[in-house]
Amino acid sequence: MPTPEEAQCVIAGGGPAGVMLGYLLARAGVSVIVLEKHADFFRDFRGDTVHPSTLQVMAELGLLQAFLARPHQELPALEGELGGEVVRLADFSGVPSACKFVAFMPQWDFLDFMAAEGRKLPGFRLMMSARAAGLVEHGGRVAGVRAEVEGKPVEFRADLVVACDGRDSDIRKMAGLRVRDLGSPIDVLWFRVSRRPDDATVVLGRLNHGRILVTIDRGDYWQCAFVIRKGGYHEVRGRGLEALRADVAKLAPFLSDRLEEISDWEQVKLLTVQVNRLERWWRPGLLCIGDAAHAMSPVGGIGINLAVQDAVAAANALAEPLRERRLADADLAAVEARRAPPTRLTQAGQVLVQDRVLGRVLAQDRPIKPPLVLKVVSRARTLQRLMGRVIGMGVRPEHVSAAIRGGAHDRDATTQ
Ligand SMILES: Cc1cc2nc3c(=O)[nH]c(=O)nc-3n(C[C@H](O)[C@H](O)[C@H](O)COP(=O)(O)OP(=O)(O)OC[C@H]3O[C@@H](n4cnc5c(N)ncnc54)[C@H](O)[C@@H]3O)c2cc1C
Repeated sequence: MPTPEEAQCVIAGGGPAGVMLGYLLARAGVSVIVLEKHADFFRDFRGDTVHPSTLQVMAELGLLQAFLARPHQELPALEGELGGEVVRLADFSGVPSACKFVAFMPQWDFLDFMAAEGRKLPGFRLMMSARAAGLVEHGGRVAGVRAEVEGKPVEFRADLVVACDGRDSDIRKMAGLRVRDLGSPIDVLWFRVSRRPDDATVVLGRLNHGRILVTIDRGDYWQCAFVIRKGGYHEVRGRGLEALRADVAKLAPFLSDRLEEISDWEQVKLLTVQVNRLERWWRPGLLCIGDAAHAMSPVGGIGINLAVQDAVAAANALAEPLRERRLADADLAAVEARRAPPTRLTQAGQVLVQDRVLGRVLAQDRPIKPPLVLKVVSRARTLQRLMGRVIGMGVRPEHVSAAIRGGAHDRDATTQ
């Protein structure tokens, strides 16, 4: 084994949580190594939603203008079609963020952007094709990771290891941290259908006749999510592509003339929905954040944003103790104490929508009517703005500490 590499913090996983945390810590003067097992960020669809809470973080870092210069779409309000009736569910015009919209940008663009910004900082190292394969422990304390970098074994020593390796986290398993599963009645099929310039619709979700479809405007195509019953993939596949196309056309007739584009099951990706969280997010020398600490339901499209919020909270709490090499267990406990309550509350809301709305719609192939509560929301702008705030900013939005912002003088950070 060659001489171990050292850093104040080693982060396993270069997704939104890992890359954002690496950037923030390096900006605060901490030496960081981010290990990402893939050779690049360009992977299957992993969600495109960048909520106002994340955009506000970008503004506080002085990165917003450069970020929004990348191709993206902007969604100022959320509309759904329930039983053929269009209802406005959320309006982002009142969110306390520099941006009053949800931006759609491929996750790899977001990661690419943050990695490029990170590389400008002296303390930031991102190693691709670097898979964390084991923990280094000393006296019951995690002291580093063993990794394979381009197939070769390398040991990394650090005061803190942060597991940002996603919902199938190897690190949390190796650390023996226990997961609490909340269950989900749904899975999701993702596919693309081309978008025409005259497709006027702004409706995001459609629910009727035992079917649920979400269509996200991605410029020249629609990113579509077709919600199915948990474990129902083989049944849907058994019925064939023609039946799937017919189901989609029933909810979104405007797509009928191009559904032949879905010609192979290879084009249809299954997301097995998980909703879970760790009972404890840390052990001495190790912290889990993002999906590694809590896999979120796709309801609200907030997984990326929660991962970013965790990263901001962790960086705010840990940058100084890491830089001064006085990290204590209480610092790790403080991150969990700050982020666990918003996670629990958000998951409770998601489970409610999954069970009470989505699960029920899928249970019966019959026309539905919008529930009274949604009709009320649809008519009251104040309630739409409230929903916009809850979805757009989340519970307990995080702000980058002044110490990390440092010299960033960003006009964008104004939230008015
Ligand atoms: C199909 C799909 C659609 C989604 N749609 C949305 C959406 O529309 N909006 C939304 O907000 N969220 C969405 N999500 C969820 C979102 O992708 C996650 O919540 C978010 O990416 C979590 O970020 P993370 O950094 O915690 O983990 P991840 O993004 O999962 O990143 C983990 C990273 O760690 C790497 N890794 C894993 N193991 C190791 C290891 N041992 N060593 C080194 N690296 C490792 C992985 O390659 C990956 O890059 C979707 C997820 C899926 C699967």
